[in-house]
Amino acid sequence: MTQATTHSPFRSALATVPTYKAGKQPAAVAGLTPYKLSSNEHYLQPLPGVMEAIAEPNTPAAYPDPAASALTTALSEYLRVPTDHIAVGAGGSEIITALSHITLEPEAEVVYPSPSFELYSQAAALNGANRTPVGLTGELKHDLKTMAEAITEHTRLVALCSPNNPTGPTISKDEFETFMAEVPSGVLVVLDEAYWEFITDPAAVNGLAALNDYDNLVLVRTFSKAHGLAGLRIGYAVAKPHVISEVRKALIPFSVTAPSQKAAIASLQRVDEVLERAKTIADVRDEFVAALRSQGWDVPQAQANFVWLPLGELSTAFEDACVAQSLAVRNLNDGVRISIGEPDAMKRVLQVAAEFRKHHYPTA
Ligand SMILES: *Cc1c(COP(=O)(O)O)cnc(C)c1O
Repeated sequence: MTQATTHSPFRSALATVPTYKAGKQPAAVAGLTPYKLSSNEHYLQPLPGVMEAIAEPNTPAAYPDPAASALTTALSEYLRVPTDHIAVGAGGSEIITALSHITLEPEAEVVYPSPSFELYSQAAALNGANRTPVGLTGELKHDLKTMAEAITEHTRLVALCSPNNPTGPTISKDEFETFMAEVPSGVLVVLDEAYWEFITDPAAVNGLAALNDYDNLVLVRTFSKAHGLAGLRIGYAVAKPHVISEVRKALIPFSVTAPSQKAAIASLQRVDEVLERAKTIADVRDEFVAALRSQGWDVPQAQANFVWLPLGELSTAFEDACVAQSLAVRNLNDGVRISIGEPDAMKRVLQVAAEFRKHHYPTA
């Protein structure tokens, strides 16, 4: 029998840690093909070669290459940066978690946009750091001026997300440079580029080009979105070697499996096709945004593979209307995020959106 104690084994910081909420599955509705538009997943099959790479004989008894050497070399050639500028992890999520581990502790502060990717807040809270979320502008972009002002002597980490998940706008090169000029060198800036392949705005910041200019910048990228390999869990950081060597200390050894490493290499070998597909999705996105705007919706700039509807308190009503049509979308309370899926799915969302406006915005 165990002894009664007055304390719990769990850290007090956990009381403020939210549990990550994943996108829901679509509800079954008779006669309708279900579509999951709630997690920004790719709706096409992986490129030729990827499934074959996964199926190559691997010995399950053996650990994978912990350094992901072959994948790191392939990334190095593709990105044209040395291998000591790259750290591979189990998705961008492991990279973001590692970046929080290497910078944050109680008393340290982190500044990040809100709403944005929920993991920034979760990872920071888990490290007991003080969180400073900064609201977006009226156009649902990063409020970089306020973010710069929010940096104190205790700030160690700033997260930027371009395009921003869930709202969609990019950070421009000019905005980024103005911001970076305000950030002390003792603050690490994460530029999360999970969706960079879908960007069509020529003014958007290019993280890779910016790396030359900043020693305190680290990029987060992933094979989950444009490469369509979310289920295999592969992401990476790109930064100067003094950052990467610290990131590597915080990664879980062997977190990226051998089939995943091989699949990522195979997908990278066809990166031109990955980018072509991303462009096709961007075209569908732009048409979808135009159709929503012509219905009267106020849609922010959309530069990833999703669109944000700022529904406010009508978010749940809109989600319910989608559920009734076998569509899963992401209700984030301030609004609803809709991933770009196949044409039939987008057509159905437009029908739901048009009906919804008739009922809820009758004077518009
Ligand atoms: C999806 C996503 C990631 C990374 O996801 P992984 O599947 O862990 O690679 C990182 N940042 C943002 C903003 C995302 O939307």
